[in-house]
Amino acid sequence: MPSPNAESTAFRSALEVIRAVEPRVADAIGAELADQRESLKLIASENYASPATLLAMGNWFSDKYAEGTVGRRFYAGCQNVDTVEALAAEHAKELFGAAHAYVQPHSGIDANLVAFWAVLADRVEAPALKKAQVRQVNDLTEQDWFTLRRELGNQRMLGMSLDAGGHLTHGFRPNISGKMFDQRSYGTDPVTGLVDYDKVAEAAREFKPMILVAGYSAYPRKVNFRIMREIADSVGATFMVDMAHFAGLVAGKVFTGDFDPVPHAHIVTTTTHKSLRGPRGGMVLCGPELADQVDRGCPMVLGGPLPHVMAAKAVALAEARRPDFAGYAQRVVDNAQALAEGLLRRGAKLVTGGTDNHLVLIDVAGYGLTGRQAEQALLDSGIVTNRNSVPQDPNGAWYTSGIRIGTPALTTRGLGVAEMDATAELIHTVLGRTTPGSNTDGTPSKAKYVLDPALADKVSRQATDLLSAFPLYPSITLA
Ligand code: PLP
Repeated sequence: MPSPNAESTAFRSALEVIRAVEPRVADAIGAELADQRESLKLIASENYASPATLLAMGNWFSDKYAEGTVGRRFYAGCQNVDTVEALAAEHAKELFGAAHAYVQPHSGIDANLVAFWAVLADRVEAPALKKAQVRQVNDLTEQDWFTLRRELGNQRMLGMSLDAGGHLTHGFRPNISGKMFDQRSYGTDPVTGLVDYDKVAEAAREFKPMILVAGYSAYPRKVNFRIMREIADSVGATFMVDMAHFAGLVAGKVFTGDFDPVPHAHIVTTTTHKSLRGPRGGMVLCGPELADQVDRGCPMVLGGPLPHVMAAKAVALAEARRPDFAGYAQRVVDNAQALAEGLLRRGAKLVTGGTDNHLVLIDVAGYGLTGRQAEQALLDSGIVTNRNSVPQDPNGAWYTSGIRIGTPALTTRGLGVAEMDATAELIHTVLGRTTPGSNTDGTPSKAKYVLDPALADKVSRQATDLLSAFPLYPSITLA
């Protein structure tokens, strides 16, 4: 354990040094802590990393170039970077039971790109790939991409549809994966809201994907990865799981057996900053067959690694290997279920009728609102969430009909099931008292809403009261 004032002293001193150069940055850092302390953070993809993880990022490792891999760098003087990269990879392998871990990706999107190119390099003709490597990806026209896809053998990706909870990087047009691959999606059952494995198998048989992707950002249930692997095998596809959202639940052994992706997938990607509670970043896990291709992530699709972030990954992964992390992961799910039950009891409509992971998707059409209106009304009331599509969403991806909420952050603060019921009450109160607004010409607006400011203020104060017993970063005082 550090000495009692060590964490406060560290952050205070850092701010003092920053303030001497650009006081507005020091002020913004201080203000961010105050804001985070006061708001009921229910963003499913966010968390609070430990002081040790945060501090591991703020140092001279940031100054070092280290292209290459451990022991095989294109720059001199990388022995200390080697130490932290090897440590992070070792912790990741032990934690997840993986044969190989690549800890350089700067984010989840980058981890997915590394994985896609590794699979392509493993499975397609080398000359076409070489051609892609020598050109700037941004310079390629639609026609170039078409030609490239054809040359590479029309590689295809089958992933979860966006409105069912899939992620942009799983072959959708706004992301480069949608240009690299011909994509088709599998949705969820219109009645239960659950993945229908027979339908996935049918789509795989028809489409014959090169990569079958599982993983999501807004699906509130477990996925059976054993069945998904069987489907992939039946059509000769590589099975990839993007566990960005639920990596903490895998690390904490809440998702085991058929629900642990690592033994079933050929390749697994993740972020490190969501339920895993590490620094912002990504990671790829795989077996020995893909390890060499994965290790070419830099320079194939990544710039030089971020040694300071790899140091922080090593710290956070060491924390996740401690026995208390399993308790945390279980509490995340218990809290999500308590939140779901609290909302259902009050009459909210939830996609799939509940949750068995860390997130809950409220269909706010049940309150007569769009996601955009609900998100803003909640924010006015000190509750930070984000709007999200629901399956077959009539309001599209901008306005949406859903609000996604998650418990990793509040659980880190120490809130438990009793506080989740109080949180459900606050959410329900705001949504139940918000009404859709109109445009200036009197037509219904999908963005404007009406909420009594006095009620928003009251809920905001109640949220702050609820949080006051669970201080964020209790060891740190900046004043
Ligand atoms: N994959 C999934 C499933 C995600 O939910 C996200 C982020 O929301 C990402 C990848 C991308 O992560 P990042 O924002 O770190 O690039």
